[in-house]
Amino acid sequence: MKSLKEMADNFSARVLTRDVRIMEVCGTHTTEFFRTGVKDIFPERLYLVDGPGCPVCVTQNEYLDRAIEIGKVHGVVIATFGDMIKVPSSYSSLGREKAEGMRVEVVYSPVDAVDIAAENPGIQVMFLSVGFETTAPAEAIAVQNAKERGVANFSILCGNKVTVPAVRALLDAKEVNIDGFILPGHVSAIIGVNAWRFIADEYGKPCVVVGFENHDLVKGTQMLLDLIESGEPAILNEYTRVVRDQGNLKAQEIMRDVFRVVDTEWRGIGTIPGSGLVLKDEFAEFDALKKFPVTPPPPREHPGCRCGDLLRGLIIPTDCPLFGKACTPERAVGPCMVSTEGPCSAYYKYGRK
Ligand code: SF4
Ligand code: SF4
Repeated sequence: MKSLKEMADNFSARVLTRDVRIMEVCGTHTTEFFRTGVKDIFPERLYLVDGPGCPVCVTQNEYLDRAIEIGKVHGVVIATFGDMIKVPSSYSSLGREKAEGMRVEVVYSPVDAVDIAAENPGIQVMFLSVGFETTAPAEAIAVQNAKERGVANFSILCGNKVTVPAVRALLDAKEVNIDGFILPGHVSAIIGVNAWRFIADEYGKPCVVVGFENHDLVKGTQMLLDLIESGEPAILNEYTRVVRDQGNLKAQEIMRDVFRVVDTEWRGIGTIPGSGLVLKDEFAEFDALKKFPVTPPPPREHPGCRCGDLLRGLIIPTDCPLFGKACTPERAVGPCMVSTEGPCSAYYKYGRK
């Protein structure tokens, strides 16, 4: 087996005869390409295009506006992963609301939110359920857990999305010329390699499922370049130690038991058919949308923020005029600068190339 140094040297010495643009669908890949330094050893003429791979970034302002309104009107405790705290909503943020007295709890697992509800029967606890196929099974388990334990003061605000329809929508839109895709390792561990075959079969684009270590990033990108150069629209799996063709059947079943698929809106992309998950009717008692009716103020976007164009692969973060000036991680204008998986945050933190 080649050493990492040997692999890296071969990679950076590679000669491309034309510009090659590859899209990484996953936000963690965006960050890891920078953090590990693999982006710095890209061969000349190889460009990385960011995709809609960060669940926080693709969540519409309306979702957070609604969560905050529910907190205000119904006095619920909002439980969330830490990433959401600093994300700007149309008029505020959870962090700002917390400072002004709203009860916002950061949890590390959705079941922690069920536990908070079980220990405090006098309050309502609403978990912000935002994420892709990677987190949806855990969220489904939390709902099942609340039902089994009879924790009636627990609910989730469904903002879950599935990634395959988003990639299809990007390909259908034909706005951006992508030569191949680096496919998300974590999502693929759940949905399996087969779920992505349409990219090669129907759209003629090569793609590789890739892990997150240095050697995965180098090897996976090499594999993709080989496919692109051979003109062969195939799908390969670099992350075989984790990802199977069929994915994780048990996790898929749990998701199917609790959620049903609906059309939903993505920041910058619009409504994508079959790309959202909401609770099935049998779990309606845990559905914050039904339990806590509110009319949030009309959503508004932040002037000048280019997150939408970024998530469609039309620009890179440094093309945004606010990048590093009006918009920094400390004073973020858009979610792509806040989330740890956001492309603007990765460019800012690890080098503005
Ligand atoms: S949820 Fe997993 S696959 Fe999706 S962006 Fe985050 S790390 Fe990547
Ligand atoms: S730099 Fe800030 S304002 Fe610009 S696209 Fe990124 S998050 Fe949005």
